[in-house]
Amino acid sequence: MAAVMEFVLWLFRFVMGASVFSFLNVVIVRLPKEETVIAGRSHCPRCGRILKPKELIPCVSFLVLRGKCLGCGQKISLRYFVNELLGGAAFVGCGLIYGCGSLGLLSLRGWLAFAYLGILLVVAWMDWDTRIIYDRFHIGIFLLGILALWLFPEHMILERLIGAAAVSLPMLLLSLLVEGAFGGGDIKLMAASGWLLGVRSILFAMFAGVVLGAVYCIGMMLRKKLSRKDQFAFGPFLAAGLCLALFWGDALMAWYLSFL
Ligand SMILES: [Zn+2]
Repeated sequence: MAAVMEFVLWLFRFVMGASVFSFLNVVIVRLPKEETVIAGRSHCPRCGRILKPKELIPCVSFLVLRGKCLGCGQKISLRYFVNELLGGAAFVGCGLIYGCGSLGLLSLRGWLAFAYLGILLVVAWMDWDTRIIYDRFHIGIFLLGILALWLFPEHMILERLIGAAAVSLPMLLLSLLVEGAFGGGDIKLMAASGWLLGVRSILFAMFAGVVLGAVYCIGMMLRKKLSRKDQFAFGPFLAAGLCLALFWGDALMAWYLSFL
């Protein structure tokens, strides 16, 4: 019985995360169009029909409706479903790593980590779609870093300050030397994230982001979908690297440094 209760509790946490990221799906679509994200019911982008409650259940609706609008049959992007799955996984991951708190939800450390993952999701997709990362997201990450001074005291202020500069400064210098090497949004993302995560994790995040970006580029070049001159959004790969760094950056870097 206890095992069943435990399973139900984790399922509840998964649904919580999926629901929050389901809302972020709306933010990702509406923010670049300067539409309001709070008011305005969810609607099909093609036929404009207001969605029924049964079409709004995270993850489940997509599967039941086989990814199509009930009204016009327009295909719904797989992206929404994937983001909801990621949200559920993010919430469960934060619970497992940072512990759970009252109401069966997350500890304060877990909430902070989950909020950061939510910002990374929006940043990644908006950069992918529009090649722009709004400053409000950098400011949000910076503010999370201030909360982290209390919630993650294992990273001292000095380590955070070094983290803020360790990757962003070289990126900035490189951008001054090579026109368009990095976008300003990417540089600010790494500065704010370095302040939040500390120096070891931000170094790992950059490494992981470059590897993931390179794999993508080589893959696209082999399929002749990207030429050497093409620019591509680096933000999503940085965000993926930062996500890995949040969970495993400190541990992996400690392991790596133990060999030196
Ligand atoms: Zn429709």
